[in-house]
Amino acid sequence: MSLPAAPLDTRAADAPRVVVVGGGPAGLMAAEVLAAGGASVDVFDAMPSVGRKFLLAGKGGLNLTHGEAFERFVERYGARRADIEPLLAAFGPSRLREWAQGLGISTFVGSSGRVFPTDLKAAPLLRAWLHRLRSSGVRFHMRHRWLGWAAGDAKEQRLRFATPHGEALVDADAVVLALGGASWARLGSDGAWVEPLAARGVSIAPLQASNCGFHVGRPVADGTLAAGWSDYFRSRFAGAPLKNVALSLAGEDGAAKQRGEFVVTETGVEGSLVYALSGPARDCIQREGRATLLLDLLPGHSAEQVSAEVARPRGSRSLGTHLKSRLGLSGVKAALLYEVLPRSVIDDAAQLAAAIKALPLTLSQPRPIDEAISTAGGVRFEALRPGLMLDALPGVFCAGEMLDWEAPTGGYLLTACFASGVAAALGARHFLQGSRPIARADDSVSPTLAGPRRS
Ligand SMILES: Cc1cc2nc3c(=O)[nH]c(=O)nc-3n(C[C@H](O)[C@H](O)[C@H](O)COP(=O)(O)OP(=O)(O)OC[C@H]3O[C@@H](n4cnc5c(N)ncnc54)[C@H](O)[C@@H]3O)c2cc1C
Repeated sequence: MSLPAAPLDTRAADAPRVVVVGGGPAGLMAAEVLAAGGASVDVFDAMPSVGRKFLLAGKGGLNLTHGEAFERFVERYGARRADIEPLLAAFGPSRLREWAQGLGISTFVGSSGRVFPTDLKAAPLLRAWLHRLRSSGVRFHMRHRWLGWAAGDAKEQRLRFATPHGEALVDADAVVLALGGASWARLGSDGAWVEPLAARGVSIAPLQASNCGFHVGRPVADGTLAAGWSDYFRSRFAGAPLKNVALSLAGEDGAAKQRGEFVVTETGVEGSLVYALSGPARDCIQREGRATLLLDLLPGHSAEQVSAEVARPRGSRSLGTHLKSRLGLSGVKAALLYEVLPRSVIDDAAQLAAAIKALPLTLSQPRPIDEAISTAGGVRFEALRPGLMLDALPGVFCAGEMLDWEAPTGGYLLTACFASGVAAALGARHFLQGSRPIARADDSVSPTLAGPRRS
C-alpha cells in the first residue's frame, strides 16, 4: 500500500516531535495515539509501504482478536501475563473491536471464538487507518532503514537512517521503536535492531521462532534421531492434513490435549495445532535435545472403545482394512502408525490401541525463525520502565512483537501489538509532558483510545 505525499502540517509549531520507527500495527497505533495527543509524528519504515505483515495476516482472514472472557484471554500470554495484562486492561479485545468499528470495519466472532473483520480482509482496514492517520497530520517516510544512533552524539534521539539518497540524521523529542520480530524478513522485520539496542545496554532475550513448524526425528537403535520422515512416508504424505486430531506435549503433566488439525511437511509438521504447542516444545528441545508430541488420532473415541475395536477378531482381513472399517483410520493417519511404531507394537492389539490414542512424534528442532508466524524473545520487560520506556535510553519507547513475549495464534498477537502501541505512545506523551508541554491534549480524535476502562 503506497502512501501519497504528506499533507500540510496543521499542528502547533512547537509541538514535540516524536519519531515512530516501524509501520506495523504497533507503530501505527502508537502514531495514532501520539497524534491524538498533539505531537508532531513522523513514521519511518524500511519498506516501500507500511503494514506488510498485517496485510499478509489478512490472507488468513485477519484474526484481529478473540472473543473469550478477559480472564481467559490474558492467560494466553503465559509467563509474560503480568507484563501484558496491564496493557490489555487499557486497550484490550473489546476496545480493539470498537476501534476497528470506528474505522468503519465491523467485526464478528467466529465459531471458534476468534474475531475477524466481516470481510475477512486487512487491506480495507489498513487503507481507512492510513487515511485517518494522514488526516491527523502523521507523516510517512518509506525506505528509511533505522541503523541506530549517530555515533558519539550525546543526544540519544538523533537517529540514523539509510535512505535511497544516502544516510539521514533525524532528531526527535521522543522515539517509539516498533520494529517487529524476526520472521518473514522480506516483509520488513529482520531483527537487525537487536545490535544497536544491545550496544546501548538494552537487555534483549534471544529471538526465537514461535508459532512455528518443526522437523521430526525418528529415534534409532543407538538412541539418536534420524532426520525427517522415511522416504516412503515423505513421498506419499508430505502436504497431507491430519484433521480432527488432538495433540499434547509429553511430560507436560496436566496440560490439556488441544484439538484441531495440522499438516505433514517434507521434514516434519506444521499448522495451527502444532503452533499452539510450539513454545513449550521449542523450550523442551532446548533443554533436552528433543520434544515428544502425543498424537491422539481418534479424540472422539475413548481409549476403551479403541481397545475394543482393535482387539475385535479380524479373520483374514489385513490390519489396515480392519483399522479402516472399525475405526475409520486410513490414509495419512494409518500410515503414521506404520511410520512411527515398531512392528512389535503394531502386532500387539493392546499396545497398538494405546498408540492410536497417544502416538509419539519426536520433534528434533523448530523450523527456521524466518518461516515462523511470530517471534519469541526481544526487549526484556525488565529493561523497561512503566510506559514501555527503555531504562537505558530515556525518551525511547518500544512496542509490538519486538518485546519479549509470545502468545498462540487466535488474535492474541495482534491484540498485544496494538495494546503495546497504545501504551508506548501514552508513555511517550507522559514523558514529553515532563520535558515540554504537549501542544494539544485531544483524545477526542479516537475516543476508544482514551481512558482507563478495562477492556
Ligand atoms: C503469515 C502470518 C499470519 C499472521 N496472522 C495473524 C493473525 O491472523 N492474527 C494475529 O494476531 N497475528 C497474526 N500474525 C502476527 C502479526 O502479523 C504480527 O504479530 C504483527 O504484525 C506484529 O506487529 P508489529 O507492529 O510488532 O511488527 P511488524 O508488523 O512486523 O512491523 C514492523 C515494521 O517495522 C519495520 N522495520 C523493521 N526493522 C526496521 C528498521 N531497521 N528500520 C525501519 N523500519 C523497520 C518493518 O518494515 C515493519 O513495517 C501473522 C503473522 C504471519 C507471518
